Amino acid sequence: MAPKTPGLNPFRQFEAFVDFLHNIAIAGAGMAGLAAARALQQTGRNVQIFDKGRRPGGRMSSRCNAHGLFDLGAQYFTVRDPDFARVVADFEQRGIVAQWPQAVAHGENGQWQVRHPEHPRYSGRPSMAALTDAMAEPLTLHQNVRVTSLTREPSGWVLKDQNGHSWGGFDHVIVALPAPQAAELLGNDAASRWALPGMSSCWSTWIHLDAPLSMPAGIDTWHGALLDDSPVLRWAARQQTHPGQQDGERVTLLAHDDWSDRHLEKAPAQVADEMVSAFRNCYPRALPDIRAQGAHRWRYAQPRRPIDDPAGYLIDRSQGLSLCGDWCIDGRVEAAWQSGTRLARALCHP
Ligand SMILES: Cc1cc2nc3c(=O)[nH]c(=O)nc-3n(C[C@H](O)[C@H](O)[C@H](O)COP(=O)(O)OP(=O)(O)OC[C@H]3O[C@@H](n4cnc5c(N)ncnc54)[C@H](O)[C@@H]3O)c2cc1C
Repeated sequence: MAPKTPGLNPFRQFEAFVDFLHNIAIAGAGMAGLAAARALQQTGRNVQIFDKGRRPGGRMSSRCNAHGLFDLGAQYFTVRDPDFARVVADFEQRGIVAQWPQAVAHGENGQWQVRHPEHPRYSGRPSMAALTDAMAEPLTLHQNVRVTSLTREPSGWVLKDQNGHSWGGFDHVIVALPAPQAAELLGNDAASRWALPGMSSCWSTWIHLDAPLSMPAGIDTWHGALLDDSPVLRWAARQQTHPGQQDGERVTLLAHDDWSDRHLEKAPAQVADEMVSAFRNCYPRALPDIRAQGAHRWRYAQPRRPIDDPAGYLIDRSQGLSLCGDWCIDGRVEAAWQSGTRLARALCHP
């Protein structure tokens, strides 16, 4: 007898019975975990997703404080994969994502010019979190749940969380965490089976300015800026230029990977001071007064070298265990989506 699963049509019940892959747990609700969860749920699987954060999104999450809304992680995403393009077009139609940035300044050898990206780039509207919030909407998401152990028992996989609570009865577990956190969760077992890559860090600083930034000669405005002249900073973005954002000059600064790695354990207030002073040094106009500033550290921001496997995920079918994430392909939002989606397809069509 096929097990009875409320809410599934008889064909799906039969399908779930024959492939023995019905209850799936996913650790990590970043883009990779969400993409896998959505693709699996669409085939009638029962998916539960667990994340230690208060909201889904991982490195795409946005910070909202008394000074407004800031994207401190991923700034925008590219769309090259035709399947991803279809998903993004649907979200764009629903007003959840929009093209941004349309004007990117380049500051090099003291010269500034603005370029308009050849291929459209997108961000959530009004911030990145809009996309991952929308992706999580139809899913069963357990927030504030840090998975601390995974055990395979005769009845299936059991996940334990930071409060000692057990979540059991899963046929398959997907680990969709940054590689070093996946390695920590899986322990020696993973380390011996799979060579998971290290990841570099990134410090982000947000600034709320008292007045609009003045523009360098020949530039009307910019949304994002590549700061090639700075030994500290690689990117700046004006948050109020995102579609749907409120007014007020608010800037996010991202530091270079190597600078971030060297300053990893510094106090956030000191890091914010140093990044703002680096911005003063490379921006060609005096900065208006700063109302408030703060820094956020991403300990695991970018894979140093993604794994060398064309599949774009890792899987052990005999154990019912698999891994996905940007580090399987490339340190980008689109790559995280591809990794989660490809894994889900492989699980459904072995
Ligand atoms: C500063 C910065 C700027 C970036 N800029 C860009 C950009 O402009 N364009 C671009 O395409 N990409 C950019 N990226 C990269 C992009 O953000 C990532 O490639 C993508 O978001 C990765 O998604 P993921 O699902 O693989 O991982 P993550 O987003 O890291 O998701 C992993 C999730 O796992 C959760 N988690 C961790 N441990 C546990 C645990 N034990 N139990 C439960 N949950 C856990 C985390 O809370 C997180 O939600 C940037 C990243 C950073 C940090």
